Amino acid sequence: MSEAKFDFDLIVIGAGYGGFDAAKHAAEKGLKVAIIESREMGGTCVNRGCVPSKALLAASGKIRELADSEHLSGFGIHAAPVRFERQKIADHANNLVSAIRKNLTKTLERSGVEIIHGFGRIEGQQNVGVREINGVDRIISSKDVLIAAGSDPFVPPGIEIDGRTVFTSDEAINLEWLPRWIAIIGSGYIGLEFADIYSALGCEVTMIEALDRVMPTFDPDITKIASRTLIDKRDIDAKAGLLASKIKPGCPVNIELSDVKTRELVEELEVDAVLVATGRVPSSKNLNLESIGVKTNRGFIPIDNSMRVISDEKIIPNLWAVGDITGKLMLAHTAAAQGTIAVDNILGKNREIDYRSIPAATFTHPEISSVGLSELEAKDLSKLENFELGIVRSYFKANSKALAELESDGVMKLLFRKDSGEVLGAHIYGLHAADLIQEISNAISRRQSVIDLACEVHTHPTLSEVVEVAYKQAVLQIK
Ligand SMILES: Cc1cc2nc3c(=O)[nH]c(=O)nc-3n(C[C@H](O)[C@H](O)[C@H](O)COP(=O)(O)OP(=O)(O)OC[C@H]3O[C@@H](n4cnc5c(N)ncnc54)[C@H](O)[C@@H]3O)c2cc1C
Repeated sequence: MSEAKFDFDLIVIGAGYGGFDAAKHAAEKGLKVAIIESREMGGTCVNRGCVPSKALLAASGKIRELADSEHLSGFGIHAAPVRFERQKIADHANNLVSAIRKNLTKTLERSGVEIIHGFGRIEGQQNVGVREINGVDRIISSKDVLIAAGSDPFVPPGIEIDGRTVFTSDEAINLEWLPRWIAIIGSGYIGLEFADIYSALGCEVTMIEALDRVMPTFDPDITKIASRTLIDKRDIDAKAGLLASKIKPGCPVNIELSDVKTRELVEELEVDAVLVATGRVPSSKNLNLESIGVKTNRGFIPIDNSMRVISDEKIIPNLWAVGDITGKLMLAHTAAAQGTIAVDNILGKNREIDYRSIPAATFTHPEISSVGLSELEAKDLSKLENFELGIVRSYFKANSKALAELESDGVMKLLFRKDSGEVLGAHIYGLHAADLIQEISNAISRRQSVIDLACEVHTHPTLSEVVEVAYKQAVLQIK
């Protein structure tokens, strides 16, 4: 039911998680929708991100568990030496990717979305140019256009990628071979997850971080405890404050490490492989955004909380952007949530996103998760709004379920307002932290107070009691 003068009601550029959710939601609401995808359907998450990396983590996690004779002997279990087939682990990830990609494509087709395989670009107001795989270039019109073109790995200058000995997560997820010694550049969540995978599969890992501490994006207290298990106790050597200024592929791979401040050469390494995990950049280069007057911020498309594209503080009519390309909490569920909100706004609803309640997780063994404000942000807010900040910690070693599992290494840190009890943020390290964070995320989304939350009954014995204990400790501090 598109307006007669347009080919479509909505054209979506990019079929990653953001584009998929937007297109599906719009079609289900009766809009005439086309989605343009230049690579594989499903984008980064399905093909090169969340899905294959979690499949590798699932397999390598089992190997780690079965190979941990000390842990198993605590239960009186003595397992035989663990053997594994690298190719079958890689196949598991690959098969999962294919299955999810197929389902996602079918879902879009069933919803009536027209899938166009090609490279999309903006061609002025309410027009999209598309160069199809067969070389045909055409222009299609749409009442609204939504950009969900995602992101690509960032490779710092001086680093040469050959895809075989020096590679990014795009290639690492194929697990084509297992280097004896691998250097991982960057200790964010992608670097950490791959360090978890490679170390479980018997590779020696050197982790190089340019900032002054490893795991710089995580809460410092959580990092202190988590890094003891995730780095120190494993075959992982972590170096902070060093810049991988030059990396040359080959056999061996040569790495030059320089002092971040002076740029002087500090150390040279020769390793078998290098994984570059130094963040991601928006894929906005060839979108022809200039044709509609969009000025990006280092390539990221500026948006408001309704997903409308903003340029020079003005809304660009009928243009929307979601997902990694907007640079907001670059996670699959953020992209999906943004996509749905954008479509609801196209349909005339007045919806805004609440970034504070969006959780993030790192699927190491054990996991790390967080939601809401960091301690630093919460302190700043407490000064600005003149309230006292409450901080409590709840430990897994006091939790019956964690003790039964012999996995009591973990802590949860809860940040809240001491005046109203409102939960501001939480940071967790421990068994199933990625699942535990959802409860706090829901509480933040409702702006709930620990006064009410402390009255909610949690199942015994479950890990969720770690959260219950934190709420109960917090309520004691409410004035
Ligand atoms: C190794 C790794 C692990 C990750 N793990 C997690 C996780 O566990 N949980 C989580 O929430 N997030 C995870 N992420 C992040 C997650 O993958 C991204 O946040 C998410 O994919 C962003 O979705 P998107 O729709 O914005 O973009 P993308 O998924 O990048 O999709 C964009 C799509 O647009 C296409 N495209 C680009 N330009 C054009 C064009 N001009 N025309 C047509 N098509 C175009 C691209 O080919 C791509 O398919 C991970 C990422 C990586 C790399």
